[in-house]
Formats: sequence, C-alpha cells, structure tokens
Amino acid sequence: MQYSVRNFYFITLLILSIGVLLLFVKYEDTIDDAMKSSEKLIISRVEGFSKNIDEMLKKEFPESASDIFNCTLEQIEQLERHLRLFVGEQYRYVYMVAKDEKQRWRYVLDGSKSISEKGEFLQKFSPESPMWDEVFKTQKPQYKIQDKSMGLWLTYLYPVVRDGKTEFVVAFDFAIKEQKEMGKIFSPLRDYLFVISFLLVLILIFSYLLAYLFYKQKQKSSIDPLTSVYNRNFLKDYGEKIDLNNFAIAVIDIDHFKRINDTHGHAVGDIVLRKIAQSIKDSIRGEDILIRHGGEEFLLFLKTSHSDQNISQTANRIKDSISKKDMELENINIKVTASVGVNPSPWMNSSLGDAIVIADKMLYLAKTNGRDRVEIFEHKQNRDVLKKTEDIALAIEEERLFAFFQPISCVETGEIVKYEALARIITKEGKIFYPAQFLPLIRKTTTYRNLSKTMLKEAFWAINTYGISVSINFDTGDFFDETLFEMIYAMLEENKKIAQKLTIELLEDREILDIQAIVSRINSLRELGVSIAIDDFGSGYSTFHYILSIKPDFLKIDGSIIKQLAKNPHAKEVIGAIVQICKTLKIKNIAECVEEEECLEVLKNLGVDFVQGYAIGKPSFALCVC
Ligand code: GH3
Ligand code: MG
Ligand code: MG
Repeated sequence: MQYSVRNFYFITLLILSIGVLLLFVKYEDTIDDAMKSSEKLIISRVEGFSKNIDEMLKKEFPESASDIFNCTLEQIEQLERHLRLFVGEQYRYVYMVAKDEKQRWRYVLDGSKSISEKGEFLQKFSPESPMWDEVFKTQKPQYKIQDKSMGLWLTYLYPVVRDGKTEFVVAFDFAIKEQKEMGKIFSPLRDYLFVISFLLVLILIFSYLLAYLFYKQKQKSSIDPLTSVYNRNFLKDYGEKIDLNNFAIAVIDIDHFKRINDTHGHAVGDIVLRKIAQSIKDSIRGEDILIRHGGEEFLLFLKTSHSDQNISQTANRIKDSISKKDMELENINIKVTASVGVNPSPWMNSSLGDAIVIADKMLYLAKTNGRDRVEIFEHKQNRDVLKKTEDIALAIEEERLFAFFQPISCVETGEIVKYEALARIITKEGKIFYPAQFLPLIRKTTTYRNLSKTMLKEAFWAINTYGISVSINFDTGDFFDETLFEMIYAMLEENKKIAQKLTIELLEDREILDIQAIVSRINSLRELGVSIAIDDFGSGYSTFHYILSIKPDFLKIDGSIIKQLAKNPHAKEVIGAIVQICKTLKIKNIAECVEEEECLEVLKNLGVDFVQGYAIGKPSFALCVC
C-alpha cells in the first residue's frame, strides 16, 4: 500500500525532472534560434552594403562594369577607398573578384588596409571553396561559416550581375570577434538558465530525498519491531484505503499463549511469536496484508474475489501452518495452535471496523468451540441484524430488544428461586438473534449502554410485576465504563427494593489485568442490596483470582463442564471440587446447561445448590410464574 504512494511521489518527481530538462533543452533551442535570427539580421545588413557597392559601380561605370579594367591605378585606389570604409572590427576583409577570359579568378578591388594582406589589382585569387563558382553561376548571394582558422567567422559572397551576366563577386569576411560579441548577448541568458536549472534539479533531488526519508520513517512506524509485520499504525494510516471488495478478513489468535509466557518466560514467548508471524508470512501471498493487531493476535487481509470458494481451505492452511511449525527452542518443544475467525465478505459491511468486529466475533466462536479451529461467518444468514450497529440501535429504539427469562431452581426443593434475564433481538420478520450475534458489534458504544439500560428495565419490570428474583449479565470490563456504571448505580439507587432481588452475573469476555480497579464499584452495588454471581466459572477468564477479589454470592459452574457429566467420569470430580470450594468460601453454586433429568440427581448428590437449563425450563418471552 505505502509503496504505491511512494511510487506516486517518485513518478511525480521524475516527471518534474524531465519537465525541467525539457525546459532547459527548449531554452537552449530558443537561444540557438535567437543566434540564427541575429545571423540573418547581419546577413541582410551586409546584403544592403553589397547593393551599395553594386550601385557605386553602376554610377562609376554606367556603360559596363567591366570598364573597371581600363581604370588607372589611382582610379582603382579611389574605388578601394569605398571598400576600406567597411573594413574594421566587424569585417576583416572586403574585396571584389572577377573571372578573366581564361575563367581564372582575379582580384579587382580590395579594401584591406595592410599592404601585406591586400590582394593587388588583377592579382590571381585562389578561392578555398567552390562557393565562389556557385555564386558566380547561380547569381545568388551565399554565406558560409568558416572554421575559425584564420580568425574568420563567416564569409558572405554577393554577385554583381549586369544584363544577366555575373561580372564580379563581392566578398565580406566577418571577423570572429563579431560572433563573440553576439555570444556575449546570449551567454548571460544561458548562464542564468543553467543556474536556474541546476537549482531546480537540486530542489528536486532534495525533495525526493525528503519524500524518501518521510516514507522510510512512515514505513518504520508501521512495522512491528518484534515480528516485522505491519502493526496497528498501518491499519490506522492505510486501513481505509484497503478495498474491501478484494479481501476477506481473518483474525488469528494464538491459543493459550499466556501459558507459554507463564511456563517458559516472556523472552521465549517473543521468539515463538516471531516464528508464528514467519509461518503466517510463509503461507500467504504477496498481495495479502498481515498486521499484528494485538499482543498475539494477527489481522490478515486475504486477497480474494467475490466468488472465491477457497477461503475456508486458505484459512485452515494458515492455521495448520502455525501448529505444524516446529517450535524447538533451546531443547524445549513448544506446541502452538491458533484459532481463526473469518469474515469472508467484508464488502457487505458498512465499514472496516464493522467487518473486523465480525471476524473477531467468529474468533470468539472458534475459541468457545474448542480452539485450534477456523470459524467463518455466513453473511446471508445474519445479514439483516449483524450488518450494522445501527440496526441494533434501531431494534432498541423500536422496542424489539426483549428479555427472555430462564428459570433457576433449587436442587433440594425443586422450587424456582430466580430467573436469568437473557437479551434477544427480534427482527421485523420475527427472527430471533442471540447476544453472541450482536453484543460484539456494539461493545464500547452508546448502543451497548442503551441495551444495558433496557435489560435493567426489563429486569425491574419482572421483579416489580411478579415479585421474583432476577439475574442479569454484565461483563466485568463494563464497570470500567464510568458512564455505564453510573447509570446502573443510579437506577438501582432509585429502586433499592428491586435491587434486593437482583443478581448481577459477571462474565469475563476479555482478561482483566487490574480487577482491583473495579472491585470497589462492584462492592458499592452490593451495598445497595444487589447479589453478585461469577458466570461461566471454569472456562475462559473466570479464575480463582476473580473469586478471591470479587468474593461473589454465587458461582455459576460453566455449562461445558456440566455437559461432560454424562461422558467424562472426571467431570464429576471437578464439579465436586468446585462445590467443595464454594461451601468452604460460603458461596452458593449454580450448575448451568442442565439438559437431562439424570444429571439432576447426580448434581444433587454432589451438593449443587441451584440448577438452570432445559431440564428445568427454556428461556421464555412469556414469563409464567406459577
Ligand atoms: P486464548 O487466546 O486461547 O483465549 O488464550 P491466551 O492465553 O492466548 O489469551 P489472550 O489472547 O488473552 O492472552 C494474550 C497473552 O499474550 C497475554 C499476554 O501476556 C501475551 N502477550 C501479548 N503480547 C505479547 C508479546 O509481545 N510478547 C509475549 N511474549 N507475550 C505477549
Ligand atoms: Mg490467545
Ligand atoms: Mg489474544
């Protein structure tokens, strides 16, 4: 991308350089033309002089010009005085020659002042070029540039013609000084031109250097020093220029990378990251764009066409190239896998940001579906809601965001003690969409705050209307959003009675390094009477660290563990251990995703307090409290 911009600068500078060169050549031509036209001016002047001489001869010898041969030497000298008037700085020699009866050239008149250089009357004259004969024959004046050997620049010959017969040829030899004089007029111009061109070329070279350095710097700031692939700056600078019609977007995240750091140290983690980046680079083509998007997350623009069916193959090949790579480092063999989320048709999204969010969402799906896998978004299915965040905003505005309530029952008594409020968007066509399909699109937007507010209101309504207890979901990270937190706090403060019956289930979507920073906010909600639950314990980011920091009232054992009860004998032990911890810490536990009746008995025996799942009741829009 940036290469094309650099090339643009380079081509512009090249064109400018050529322009300056052409200008120089053009001016050189213009100067040459000017020299030529001043040459012509000189010739026309000398032509005038020749005509004067011709007139003088006519006056002196009205009968025939050849009467000159009958003149006395005094008379000849008299006539030569006329010619001598012309001789000076400009004309070196002015003389007149004629052919005798044997067709040999003879001096007739010579204006030279110096005796040694003067051709005497009727002295033989040997022309050094055939021009004399030509002028004699054609009866047309001619001139010739000399080779400067005898201090001469130009020779001009003029035929004196009477009654169709050439009688004499008058010759003017221009001194070389004349040319120098002419040169003097033009050379300053030429010098100026040279200086201007030189300066222009210098400016061009300088600006090219500047442009080059600027792009080198820009390129450097767009490259991640660890992996040598592009970084986020590249996306910021050039992202909008990427034509989404020609690319699919993949987000690649290394699975459990934190463990590599924790086990082998950060330095080894860095080497592994570098190797992974190299593997990806090796398995993509030149026109694909690889960006290190986050710590160990890569964003990949894969060049495709709309009809490309191979995106799944390509994404899997890239994923496999990472796990196939032998990470043998200082005798440690490290096994790495990656999860990939793909948005195969970003042109269907309204912005690059939206397109990336969809790939991100697919990555999240790949992670929750077991990692080391590729998940590809199918636009056609979900287009009506997932296309734009505005669609979700509109759904909230048009009151198409609903809470569905799923019962939670006490294992001991079988009594329903609480309902979990689950967000659903219903399209105008009656299609239902689930949080995973729309939450990633609106996180950190005002729409997300509006959604949270609507869900709280729904929960309030259910508590108020039916007197039941309700739990509602928030991300732990949501409490970093001051506006959102203040809104929740204000709503609960105004409805303290309702707050007593509300449980907030905290979910970890992303790792939160500084959990302490929000513990006080969570505690202030608790002071209003709200109960706190940790959701999906045993998967993702919900760790013992959270239990110790947040000190929840409830712990929800992740559904993926409960679902293994029937197949995996160790699942029982794991659940038993969690129950034991809860008992010790005086935390009530809830088992999610209880889908079969048989499980209920097992869970009861394990000492589980509460259960939730299809075996107890599905999430329902129509809240039926019996
Ligand atoms: P998963 O993605 O499978 O859910 O698990 P994970 O352990 O990879 O989780 P996550 O993506 O949240 O963790 C990213 C880790 O990558 C956390 C951070 O310490 C580590 N990391 C981020 N940037 C760098 C880096 O430049 N060098 C090293 N060595 N580690 C990094
Ligand atoms: Mg990871
Ligand atoms: Mg990550």
